[in-house]
Amino acid sequence: PELQIIALNNIINDVIDSLNYKAEQAQITIRFQPKEVNSFAFADRNQIRQVLINLVENAIKYNKPEGRIYIGTTIEKSDPEHVLVSVKDTGIGIEPENLKRVTERFYRVDKSRSRDQGGTGLGLAIVKHILESHNSQLQIKSKPGSGSQFSFKLKLADHYSDHISA
Ligand code: ATP
Ligand code: MG
Repeated sequence: PELQIIALNNIINDVIDSLNYKAEQAQITIRFQPKEVNSFAFADRNQIRQVLINLVENAIKYNKPEGRIYIGTTIEKSDPEHVLVSVKDTGIGIEPENLKRVTERFYRVDKSRSRDQGGTGLGLAIVKHILESHNSQLQIKSKPGSGSQFSFKLKLADHYSDHISA
C-alpha cells in the first residue's frame, strides 16, 4: 500500500455519495455517525475507499427493503492509537457456519439469491487482502435474519495532522 494521511470522514462521505443512488433504489438508508470530528488515518486512500465500497455495496445487496446501514468511526479508550471503522446493516445476516468462508475467493452463501444480486464473490476477499496489507483484520459479527457488522482498525495519524491532504 501507498501509506499517506487520509481524512477518513471525507472518504466515507464520498463513498456514501457514490452509492446513495443504489441504496435509494433498494429503499435503504445509509447513516454515518462519526464519534470524532474527523479521524486522520495512516493508510492507502484508494485501497481504503475500495474496502468501504465493497462493504457498503454488500450492506445494500444483502439488506431488506426499508433496511438501514450504519457507518461509524470510533477511537476506543483502550486503543487510542487506532480508529475503528464499522459498517453495520439490518440485512439477512450470515449463518455461523458460513461466517469463516465469506472472505474466501468466489465463496457466496446462497447461490440462487446471490445469482439474482449479481457479483463474483470476490468483494470480501479483496477487503481481507487490503486490510492484511495494512496489518489489519476484518472482523465480522452477524445474526442470521437480523443483520451483520463488518469492522476493522486503521492506524491513526494524529501527530501528522498538520500535513493533511484530503
Ligand atoms: P462481489 O462482491 O464480487 O460482487 P459478492 O457480494 O457475492 O460478489 P463478497 O462481497 O465477497 O461477494 O461476499 C461473499 C458472500 O458473503 C456474499 O455472496 C453473501 O452471501 C455474503 N455476504 C457478504 N456481505 C454480506 C452482508 N452484509 N450480509 C449478508 N451476507 C453477506
Ligand atoms: Mg460483494
